[in-house]
Amino acid sequence: MDLLNTLVDKGLRREPPTREEALAVLATSDDDVLDVVAAAGKVRRHWFGRRVKLNYLVNLKSGLCPEDCSYCSQRLGSKAEILKYTWLKPDQASQAAAAGVAGGAKRVCLVASGRGPTDRDVDRVSDTIRTIKEQNEGVEVCACLGLLSEGQAEQLRAAGADAYNHNLNTSEATYGDITTTHTYADRVDTVQKAHAAGLSACSGLIAGMGESDEDLVDVVFSLRELDPDSVPVNFLIPFEGTPLAKEWNLTPQRCLRILAMVRFVCPDAEVRIAGGREVHLRTLQPLALHLANSLFLGDYLTSEGQAGRADLEMIADAGFEVEGTDQVTLPGHRVAGGCGSHQEAGCGSHQEAGCGSHGSGGCGSHEGPGVCGSASAPASGEPRTDLVAVRRRGAGTDLAPNA
Ligand code: SF4
Repeated sequence: MDLLNTLVDKGLRREPPTREEALAVLATSDDDVLDVVAAAGKVRRHWFGRRVKLNYLVNLKSGLCPEDCSYCSQRLGSKAEILKYTWLKPDQASQAAAAGVAGGAKRVCLVASGRGPTDRDVDRVSDTIRTIKEQNEGVEVCACLGLLSEGQAEQLRAAGADAYNHNLNTSEATYGDITTTHTYADRVDTVQKAHAAGLSACSGLIAGMGESDEDLVDVVFSLRELDPDSVPVNFLIPFEGTPLAKEWNLTPQRCLRILAMVRFVCPDAEVRIAGGREVHLRTLQPLALHLANSLFLGDYLTSEGQAGRADLEMIADAGFEVEGTDQVTLPGHRVAGGCGSHQEAGCGSHQEAGCGSHGSGGCGSHEGPGVCGSASAPASGEPRTDLVAVRRRGAGTDLAPNA
């Protein structure tokens, strides 16, 4: 396909596709999905080889948020029966982080629900960052605390944070339909504050909220302009008890096309498969490794992911390798300085997988009912509520974390 040859050539040169080309990727048919994966896979391997960076989420503060992000199980008025707790102590957070590091994660993403941190919250998270860094040699720390005020990014950087995550989530045009308590411009401002403080910026999106292809392309081109080092791609987990509970719009093939489009637009950025991979990619998850070079190990913020061991086995079986702490995630030109180069690697997302959009994602516990043993396979695109399991282990519980 001429389109794919063109996009590979551009991706290897770090040249963006045109808007029309990005839309054309999303419009390819299911018959062509392996060709799309193969083409975007060439770009992924050119910049990142076969390495997969593992990130581990620690939900420092869960639920009870005053904001109204529609995709989020922690939002104001959410009826989702998620864990709710206030700030973990530094030692508790460090213990949770250590489990992720022992499981192979090189980055820990510290997430807290809320509009944004108070200065006291930043003090508290700074203590937690120092504790984690002292107790886990070589680990990268990304903070994801919502909208930042003046000076807070600098304070987090001084405490040892490597990165800050805040997702754009969706296009500017549709942002007001998803959230009314803050604006798209607020989000852009926080990503810029993180950049300016010397933190590696992490900012991504949530697909599957009812947006159009144009919206998806808009948000990905806006991200390219902001130039984050890492771009988490969440697939909405339609949580019961949230306004988007009925938005089951994604198929595994659609998820692959979205990841491929993101890879073509941001060829040398860390593209991370974030929340919702188990729920929406399902058995096609290994194909997504040919597009993304990063994922979250184990559980998400408020939902459970597949067993950490299953993540590791999937990576090995697909012929990829877990990136070590001695390996640099980003290509040399991004590490060396300049825009979007912030010394090290990328980060996460609040939606579920990660932060910045603390809401949707993440999950697909394979322990729950359904999945295995079902007599008949559900049609593609059908709601898979059987794959959504609220997190009941790890941070905020007495049970061991999944890592
Ligand atoms: S995404 Fe973050 S800010 Fe929005 S409702 Fe969820 S926790 Fe609150």
